[in-house]
Amino acid sequence: MPTSSLESQLRAALLGLAVGDALGVPVEFQSRAARRLDPVVTMREYGTHHQPAGTWSDDASLTFCLAQALADGFTLGKAAEYSRRWYYEQLWTPHGVVFDIGITTREALSRLQADDDLVLAGGTDEYSNGNGALMRILPLAFYQVDAPLKERFQLIHDVSAITHGHIRSAVACFLYLEMARHLRAGLAPAAAYAELCRQAPTQLYELQISAAEADKFERLLSGRLPDVAATAIDSGGYVMHTLEAALWCLLRHETYAETVLDAVNLGDDTDTTGAVTGGLAGLYYGEAAIPPEWLAVLARRADIEALASATAIGAGVS
Ligand code: ADP
Ligand code: MG
Repeated sequence: MPTSSLESQLRAALLGLAVGDALGVPVEFQSRAARRLDPVVTMREYGTHHQPAGTWSDDASLTFCLAQALADGFTLGKAAEYSRRWYYEQLWTPHGVVFDIGITTREALSRLQADDDLVLAGGTDEYSNGNGALMRILPLAFYQVDAPLKERFQLIHDVSAITHGHIRSAVACFLYLEMARHLRAGLAPAAAYAELCRQAPTQLYELQISAAEADKFERLLSGRLPDVAATAIDSGGYVMHTLEAALWCLLRHETYAETVLDAVNLGDDTDTTGAVTGGLAGLYYGEAAIPPEWLAVLARRADIEALASATAIGAGVS
């Protein structure tokens, strides 16, 4: 069992993310209309990727690779190397195969494979803004959280840029981790979101994020995200959409299960929306709130729990 509250937060975050991912895997790429007719209510088997129930995908795999880098004494090089090893050597796969990967992520990992000295392999163009860095960033909520703002943002930027080098991905990761920081401090989702909206504009200004780029986050940081109609919440693979969808789900429910099921039932990029939402929901509601029948079938549960302990020690938080 976890030996510190920080370790238990980390463990709940990793398990919550993996469970959300696994709930979404069997219905990835299916539409929201399909989910309205046939909502996901528990773990399913087979479906899109023909995997057994409880199988998580690239989202959890790459999250665990980052956690492993923290456990082993963090360097950016390790984070890049472990991500590369996931794709080429099946590190942190649920059953020894990689069955799901985004285009931007694959291109970056291929560049890493071809060039030993490369670390920041992510594309920087507008269309490199898939959610592939956001989906794996959560372990940084447990590392150097008290560092000065600019240092902290630089670290988040660089970890994002292993696969996603555009500033928008870095800002999305930063805001997601800010939300995690407020939840870790004990704020409920609504209060954490209010704090995020209060602090972020000044933070983005201090970080010299351009006004045009900061404007992209205007709706997210308006304070009114929970009031946005479901029809205006997108759940494809664009990082802005995934971040908004995750916070929107978190802010509209009061249990772990309802929160992640809502995320998955938005359709389309169900595993990533489930993972990004599930990480925050796990962190906030705790491991005991995750339905035991979902944890019971989760692939490599014991390995994930051991990773959480090692990461808590390696990241210097316990
Ligand atoms: P990953 O980020 O996981 O590697 P992809 O590269 O496959 O995934 O991208 C996921 C999705 O993000 C794609 O559907 C792509 O169209 C979308 N996307 C990327 N950049 C933008 C953007 N600037 N605006 C809208 N959608 C975007
Ligand atoms: Mg996935």
